[in-house]
Amino acid sequence: MNDKENKTNNENMNSQPENSNKMEEIISLAKRRGFIFQGSEIYGGLAGTWDYGPLGVILKNRVKNLWWQNFIEKRNDIYGLDAAILMNSKIWEASGHVSGFNDPLVEDLKTKKRYRADHLLEDAGYEVAGKTSEEMDALIKENKILSPDGNELSQVKKFNMMFKTEIGVSGTGDSVSYLRPETAGGIFVNYKNVLDSMHPKMPFGIGQIGKAFRNEIAPRDFIFRTREFEQMEIEYFIHPDNWEVEFEKWVESLREFNNLVGLRKEDVFEVEVSDEDRAHYSKRTIDFEFNYPFGQKELYGLAYRTNYDLSKHSEASNQKLEYFNDQTGERFIPHVIEPSIGVDRLILAILTTAYSKDNVGGEERTVLKLSPEIAPYQIAVFPLLKNKEILVNKAKEVFESLNQENWRVTFDDNGNIGKRYRRQDEIGTPFCVTVDFETIETEKDGENNPLLNTVTIRNRDTGEQDRIQISELKNYFKEKIN
Ligand code: ATP
Repeated sequence: MNDKENKTNNENMNSQPENSNKMEEIISLAKRRGFIFQGSEIYGGLAGTWDYGPLGVILKNRVKNLWWQNFIEKRNDIYGLDAAILMNSKIWEASGHVSGFNDPLVEDLKTKKRYRADHLLEDAGYEVAGKTSEEMDALIKENKILSPDGNELSQVKKFNMMFKTEIGVSGTGDSVSYLRPETAGGIFVNYKNVLDSMHPKMPFGIGQIGKAFRNEIAPRDFIFRTREFEQMEIEYFIHPDNWEVEFEKWVESLREFNNLVGLRKEDVFEVEVSDEDRAHYSKRTIDFEFNYPFGQKELYGLAYRTNYDLSKHSEASNQKLEYFNDQTGERFIPHVIEPSIGVDRLILAILTTAYSKDNVGGEERTVLKLSPEIAPYQIAVFPLLKNKEILVNKAKEVFESLNQENWRVTFDDNGNIGKRYRRQDEIGTPFCVTVDFETIETEKDGENNPLLNTVTIRNRDTGEQDRIQISELKNYFKEKIN
């Protein structure tokens, strides 16, 4: 298992291109090529929000689909759910979010800029695990820690991260609601519904993908820390006697999932969260951290949360949230193991892994080495020349026939062939098919053209080209893509 001690060694591994530039380059590529745009950009933006563009949304949907197929569809023991974002505010009181979902806030007394006190202390080299706001305040004062602009800081205050809103006619206390700060709440309050409708046998899980909202004090690092993001969460209900075995199975399943989406083993660190840093009800938590260009940071978490959540909801709602084992006659409130993955942090990890620069045919290029499984397009079809109708028509025919299969195919006739290759490399298209004069000419040098009805297929990663019969294309891609 990896841990924080490995950090320094591994953080240097991705040195090509230099990490400091790499983030800027990824953000720039994401915008230039239609993956991710700044939220509300033409109005000057809205901090902590990002919009997924035409290619970004395909990539994101592919990643979510892989999670859904892998954990919900392929498994008989986990059920899907799509709960409402707005929920009864009593849910967030019972879960402790209304009183305790706080971040420690400090203000630069001169510029009025706001910061997370724990982040400032960490950046200054202090250990903050498990420290209260008061303790952080004392650390700042004792060590005369200043803001990044060199000014004095205010006292540390608790800042609740939930977005509060009002439902219906405002003004009465009853109408308060919150945009959910995590999707898990919707799962816990539907535990009984799933139990009563699906009659699952323990252990079983409920999973959902959806938006979550947190009023982060300082959103930063592109899509890493945002105010609106997506989560893929599962609550896996177990008997407490089995928690250790079940936890280990989850660690293994998550390792397999990391591999499925193309993360390299050496970039992911399984960090055991210490007793002081863990929520008081959790007996074990592992943070899966990733080697981002800005450092090793939490990608997602796996927590054994005991029966804290269901017990709290049972008490507050006055509902029995037990499980009855009809074989042993035992009744108990199930315990849970929760793998909680932030979709956007995963997308950033995938982009970081895939982004590379290399030399093909003596030319430097930027390439996104996405697997065919998640690349926005799997195949691009080109006519060699845009203004030769006969080439364009043939290329369209090839495009249509590939498009009928379940592949993501794009047609590109913009600019010269070199430009098209560069564009497809940058968006991660694994295969480019080109229709050229050989494809259509029946005769060559007075003889039958042996290359009639053949096309070239260029491989993104090697730059190598194969020439194959159009009639063989589908078989070729069935082997390479499916
Ligand atoms: P952090 O300590 O980085 O704020 P957290 O421990 O509060 O994260 P959790 O509450 O465990 O995060 O949420 C589960 C997952 O949701 C995180 O591991 C992360 O992938 C994602 N996530 C949480 N907050 C954000 C955010 N502001 N922006 C993007 N993703 C987030």
